[in-house]
Amino acid sequence: MYETLSLYIDGEFLSGEGRKTQDVINPATHEVLGQLPHASQADLDRALTAAARAFETWRDSSPMQRSEILRKVAQLSRERAQDIGRNMTLDQGKPLAESVGEIVSCADHADWHAEECRRIYGRVIPPRNPAVHQYVVREPVGVCAAFTPWNFPYNQAIRKICAAIGAGCTIILKGPEDSPSAVMAIARMFHDAGLPPGVLNIVWGVPSEVSDYLIRSPIVRKVSFTGSVPVGKQLAALAGAHMKRITMELGGHSPVLVFDDADVEKAAKQLARFKIRNAGQVCVSPTRFYVQQKVFDHFLETFVETLRGIKVGDGLESDTEMGPLAHERRVPAMSRFVEDSVARGGKLVLGGEPLDRKGNFFPPTVITDIPQDSMIMTEEPFGPIAPVVPFTDTEEVIRQANSLPFGLSSYVFTTSLQTANRVSRALEAGMVNINHFGSALPETPFGGVKDSGIGSEGGLETFDGYLVTKFVTSI
Ligand code: NAD
Repeated sequence: MYETLSLYIDGEFLSGEGRKTQDVINPATHEVLGQLPHASQADLDRALTAAARAFETWRDSSPMQRSEILRKVAQLSRERAQDIGRNMTLDQGKPLAESVGEIVSCADHADWHAEECRRIYGRVIPPRNPAVHQYVVREPVGVCAAFTPWNFPYNQAIRKICAAIGAGCTIILKGPEDSPSAVMAIARMFHDAGLPPGVLNIVWGVPSEVSDYLIRSPIVRKVSFTGSVPVGKQLAALAGAHMKRITMELGGHSPVLVFDDADVEKAAKQLARFKIRNAGQVCVSPTRFYVQQKVFDHFLETFVETLRGIKVGDGLESDTEMGPLAHERRVPAMSRFVEDSVARGGKLVLGGEPLDRKGNFFPPTVITDIPQDSMIMTEEPFGPIAPVVPFTDTEEVIRQANSLPFGLSSYVFTTSLQTANRVSRALEAGMVNINHFGSALPETPFGGVKDSGIGSEGGLETFDGYLVTKFVTSI
């Protein structure tokens, strides 16, 4: 049985009856899984009113109460991970083990926010006049509007919800219409954990219409979005026009720098496995592979052989290592990258064509001999395509790594401490991973620089976007 899909407004689950609906499709089989109701304007107004009303009491709730609810959600995430994971594989496509892993790791996110929300401190400022008492408090910003994507439907939504709710805000979240079951499951968990009505509201619809309506509303005080750079810029501009705070987690084009002193065999194998995680539909996916000349052939051979051995299939089959792309439109998007590369003299070493079977299947693909200005070297592929190019000089590879407007994650493989230090200082990225993959833990900040975004989620920074600073002075 697939998830029952509904809106969740003011503590009530509202069905599609009398509302416009859209099909939710299994990307592995193209089978229709269910009908997702769209929120009408009246539904959005109801969500706004409920969130505004709930904020009046939730803002003053004890951090202990918020913490208790978040802890309960963490516990329910662990208990329900298998069922939620199965539904997420059905509507998103990733292998079941990845789906379940996403949910279990998000239980840690809920626990982390449960702990940290009890530590939102202010400060006392020593006065110039001893009769003055002056201090700073951090208060919840108010009603938040959040928009989350389909690649990590559970993770992206729960991080925003936990941060908003933990800070004392209320939130209206529009989840991904293509892969909605995980967000529905989150709504159920918060409901079952005793969250008061109106604190969390879930809506669905035409993304541009819902975001436009919510961001323009004077009730909304903060906008949080995870998705592509162009959409992020549109939403940030609209939020700016209405002077709303923003958190933007946008796309990336992560450079990978493999130096000739690295453990090349290990790096190539690990990078191949990391590349195909979620079929490459990951904003921090390793994207441009720069490999030092001396070890280039060794790296390429091991990388390609590891990818060649990856079992692609329906995420519910137990031996599947890489599932389909989440939506039909992503398959021609992959082909466009390959066509552009080949037209520019690129050499296709592996894959390159959609698999001849039902479902949105595109195989692991490796391309070499491509110019720096090709599509794959400059635009986010968001799929299982890896361009691998050689480099000789450290300063030159740093320049190339920093040459795009993106600045999300980056990966460096070297056994030289000096190189690791030099490169980690020089890379224009929100996250630098040296000799392993360590981003996106609850206790570490996740976010980008340049076009990749504004603000961080996770870590001690997690509540910053949901709080405003108030200075109080008295005599
Ligand atoms: P898209 O840009 O149309 O949509 C990306 C996401 O943004 C979707 O979840 C969509 O519902 C949402 N969205 C789109 N327009 C919106 C709007 N006006 N208001 C609110 N939400 C809106 O593209 P797509 O085909 O779904 O995905 C392709 C691209 O999206 C990828 O190439 C990648 O760059 C980006 N993406 C990034 C992330 C991320 O984690 N940063 C996640 C998913 C997709």
